[in-house]
This record gives sequence, C-alpha cells and structure tokens, in this order.
Amino acid sequence: MPDTINIIGAGPAGGYSAYLLAKEGYKVNLFEENSGIGRPVQCTGIVTGAFADIMDVKDEFLINKVDTARIHAPNGNSVDFRLDRENLVICRTSFDRYVAAMASEAGAEVLHSHKLEALDERELGIRDGSRELRKFPRGILIGADGPNSAVARLTGISGKRRFWYGAQATIRGKFEKNVFEVYLGSIATNFFAWSVPENEHYSRIGLAVESEPNAHFRKLLVKLGIKESDVADYQGGLIPMYNPSVRTQIGSTYLVGDAALQVKATTGGGIIQGLIAAEALAHSIKNGVDYEKEWRKRLGRDLYTSYWIRKVFNKFTDNDYNMLLSIVGKERIRKLIEHHDREFPSKLLLSLLFREPRFLYFAKALF
Ligand SMILES: Cc1cc2nc3c(=O)[nH]c(=O)nc-3n(C[C@H](O)[C@H](O)[C@H](O)COP(=O)(O)OP(=O)(O)OC[C@H]3O[C@@H](n4cnc5c(N)ncnc54)[C@H](O)[C@@H]3O)c2cc1C
Repeated sequence: MPDTINIIGAGPAGGYSAYLLAKEGYKVNLFEENSGIGRPVQCTGIVTGAFADIMDVKDEFLINKVDTARIHAPNGNSVDFRLDRENLVICRTSFDRYVAAMASEAGAEVLHSHKLEALDERELGIRDGSRELRKFPRGILIGADGPNSAVARLTGISGKRRFWYGAQATIRGKFEKNVFEVYLGSIATNFFAWSVPENEHYSRIGLAVESEPNAHFRKLLVKLGIKESDVADYQGGLIPMYNPSVRTQIGSTYLVGDAALQVKATTGGGIIQGLIAAEALAHSIKNGVDYEKEWRKRLGRDLYTSYWIRKVFNKFTDNDYNMLLSIVGKERIRKLIEHHDREFPSKLLLSLLFREPRFLYFAKALF
C-alpha cells in the first residue's frame, strides 16, 4: 500500500472519495475545517434521478420528491415538464454526514475542526480545534475543499477561478410539493432563479448571479410577492464556473468536486458530478490510471455541453427566453425534453436540433 491519502474537505466529493478509497484498504484521513459536517448549508439540494444510480436514497437525508419542472419565461408564461424520473430534494447536512459516516465505517479517520492552511512538498500544515498548527506527512493529497479550494490555491494547480454568487432563503408559504420552478431572464442575468419545495409549507427560493446577489435576491422576493416575515432562514454560497481547460492533478495531488470546477454551467449542479468524479478518482488511484482522462471520460462531454449551452444562454435577451419557452411548450418538443435526463444534456441537444429547426434561430447567440 502506498502513502496515507489525505483528503481535505468533507463535502459529498471528499466524503465519498474517502469512503471509496478506505473501502479499498487505503489509510485515509478526511480533514474538515468545520466542527460539524454539512454546515453551514450552501446548497438547494435538488438532484436528478441519476443520483439513485450512484447512492442508495435514504430517508435520513431525503426531504422531498418532485415530478414536475415549471419553467417561467420573463413575460410570465410558463411551461410544465413532467419528469420521467422524479428529482430528489435532499438535506445537505444529513447527506454530508451520512457520506462521512460511510467513510468512517469503511475505516477512514474523520477529523473535524481541522483546516488545511499550509503545505510544502513534504508536509501539510493543519490548524486543529485547539488552534495549533499541526504537521502531517503530505502523502497522496486530495483537494475536495470546495469552490475556494485551498489545495488548488496553495499548489497553483488550477488558475484563476470565476464564480456565480448564490443567494437563497427557506420561505414559508403555500407550495405545490411536487413542482420545482425556474425563472429565466433578467431576474437573474446569466443564470436563473428557482423555487424548490421541501413540502407544502416551505420552499428553497434563490438565484445565482455574477455580482450583487443580495440586491437581485431582494428583487426576486418582491417579484414573487414574498414578505420578509415569510423568510425562515438565509443561505448562500459560491458556484464555480466550469472551465474546460482546468487542471486537476499534479503528481500525487488531485482536485475533485467543486475544487476541480466539476459543476454543470447550465444549472450549477455539482453534487452528482462530485460523486461521479470521486468514483473516477478512486478508480484512478487504485489502478494507476490517469485521473484527468478518467473523469473527463465520465463527465467531460456533458460538462462541456453545459458550458456551451450556458455561453449561448448568456447572450439571450428576455425576448429570446420568451420565444424559447413558446417553442419548447409545443407538445412534441416538451415530450422529448421530458424523456431526457438533464444531468446528461449532450444527446438532448442534438435531438432538439433535428426535431425543431427553429432552434437554429438561437445560433445567433453562438457568435
Ligand atoms: C446556492 C447554491 C445552491 C446549490 N444548489 C445545488 C443543487 O440544488 N444541486 C446540486 O447538485 N448542486 C447545487 N449546488 C452546488 C453544490 O452545492 C456543490 O456542487 C457541492 O456542494 C460540491 O461538493 P464538494 O464536496 O465538491 O464541495 P463542498 O460541498 O463545498 O465541500 C467542501 C468541504 O471542504 C471544507 N473545506 C473547505 N476548505 C477547507 C480547508 N482549508 N480545510 C479543511 N476543510 C475545508 C468545507 O467546509 C466543506 O465541508 C449549489 C450551490 C450553491 C452555492
């Protein structure tokens, strides 16, 4: 067996990597800077049905299931899409803790209140709960430490990063439990706003933008007629923008999950991508296979397609979104979309272009 594997960050990508590697018999340390795993919550927690292909869906972290996506155009029109596979709404605190417990049961040592602050070729400098900077042999190092990855920064692996700023609140009200909603257009320029119900009484409502998230969020609340007194609590966080030329490995140092920018640029979803990348990473370490190649084989095409779709959407005006919704609202196009998993958009895009030449109108946004 080689050196100890040190994983920085006990989010889904780090916890799952720790589980997979410990299961293979490696000695694994999983370092988490916070005293409690899964807090603070910086996520909406909606995942497609593809999640169940990777993990057992447990009641301890499942909050809700939704079977309809309602997409709103800026002009107020909306289209409902029935989802072939229900989407799941999970509690990130419980889920992250569940995955860390899997890692621990498989033999990984989970160290809370341990923050990576420094590293050199031989050692890691980790600040522990007593505020002492402890040294650990570097071993194999995995940065699963989220969008602002210290491992990426301290090693210089991946260069300049760009982010969306997410702002979200849990809102009290009356909601359709099985419907999640998406608001397109200038309400959240270059991204979108959302409402993801936990049940009939609470929904996670938010948006992501490239600047001034709080000002945009206030406007969203006004648009949706939500009063300050309806807000149960606020959350927020960074969504890293995927960059196809990102590097994720130097020697025996690896990045995974948000730290590696493995996030869909269309939706900002990164939970499933982090889990799939963790599988690629564990496979690569175990079999001596090139990690960059391995994760790109599993995720690269769809991350790249999402990246291009986002580039196109970023050129859309509110009128373009109005027109798009009027086209996709047509029965045969809607059905086609309903039968595709949005986790993997590349096939869908081709089918849409073949079936509806009017989509070529939007090709103007490519230039
Ligand atoms: C507002 C918002 C809504 C989102 N909604 C969704 C959604 O609905 N569905 C979806 O799929 N994705 C969503 N995402 C994205 C999703 O949250 C991330 O893709 C996912 O959390 C990435 O998992 P990860 O394990 O790579 O990183 P993280 O979950 O960020 O975990 C990183 C961990 O590393 C720890 N850490 C950081 N630095 C250090 C350090 N120096 N030392 C030790 N520990 C450290 C952190 O405390 C954290 O626990 C959303 C993101 C935001 C901001």
